[in-house]
Amino acid sequence: MQRLRSAFAAGRMPHALLIHEAPGTGGEWLAYWSAQLVLCAQPSHAPCGQCPACRHVSQRQHPDLMPVTPAAESAQIRIEQVRELAADLALTAHQGGYKVAVICPADGMNRFAANALLKTLEEPPPRTLLVLVASVPSRLPATILSRCQRLRVPAPPREAAVAWLEATRGPAEWARVLAVLGDAPLLAAAADPTALLATAAEMSHDLEALAGGGGDAAASAERWTRADLPLRLACFENWLTERIRAGLVPGNAPPEVRASTHSSSPGPTIKETFDLLDAVRELRSSLDAPLNRSVALEALLRRLSPRRAA
Ligand SMILES: [Zn+2]
Repeated sequence: MQRLRSAFAAGRMPHALLIHEAPGTGGEWLAYWSAQLVLCAQPSHAPCGQCPACRHVSQRQHPDLMPVTPAAESAQIRIEQVRELAADLALTAHQGGYKVAVICPADGMNRFAANALLKTLEEPPPRTLLVLVASVPSRLPATILSRCQRLRVPAPPREAAVAWLEATRGPAEWARVLAVLGDAPLLAAAADPTALLATAAEMSHDLEALAGGGGDAAASAERWTRADLPLRLACFENWLTERIRAGLVPGNAPPEVRASTHSSSPGPTIKETFDLLDAVRELRSSLDAPLNRSVALEALLRRLSPRRAA
């Protein structure tokens, strides 16, 4: 934030930002903070948060602010929305200053929409700020990525998130909830901690069984698809990340682990685990697509099983 503030004060504000956020860590909040920064009526201590411009931005009602989000009942941002945005950006700002577009989630743009946006990114009208928020930027074309200045929103430290959750939601086992969700405080705030921990315990039991060569991928996939699938996929993603971190994956094990039981583990290799992680994220972001979720999930779960010895 300090970096953006100095860039703006020095007149070196980039015209396109890509905020790369861990899901649920406030990338969208930072996007609107950036909009306030350039639209605030008190440039000397922008964003002040108090002036009418700042308040209109936080209510998403500023005339020179254009939020672009997926159309209702869709997870996709369509080409018509991007064309409309380009036309709006070409007009002079109502208040004679900046015009700001916030595209969130930018990785929700389909291919046509992304191509249309490229034209605006290549020749942005003066005093334009385009803010793209994405949790999986690799889903965007490289031509778009190369035209944006990237900001990474790291997950906040666990203790800070626990303190915030206790203050806003009351006491609960928040540290365990965050461990399950992968330090995504906004996701945690929206969850029922008791139910979430029960679900996570059940899932981890299923996943351990599958990774150990037992379990029933079809039954697990069926059960997971029935309730809370997005939350379960977040847990699955985090379970894989933790496994990689703990050195439980062949090819990534520290020597002392490698020497023990996992040395000859025929389970997925480190590369296969990363590929699987990508596939889980992909499924998570395409949940509204007309696909058979249970079948797609079952295929992913099968990739956990150790290969049968030949
Ligand atoms: Zn202000």
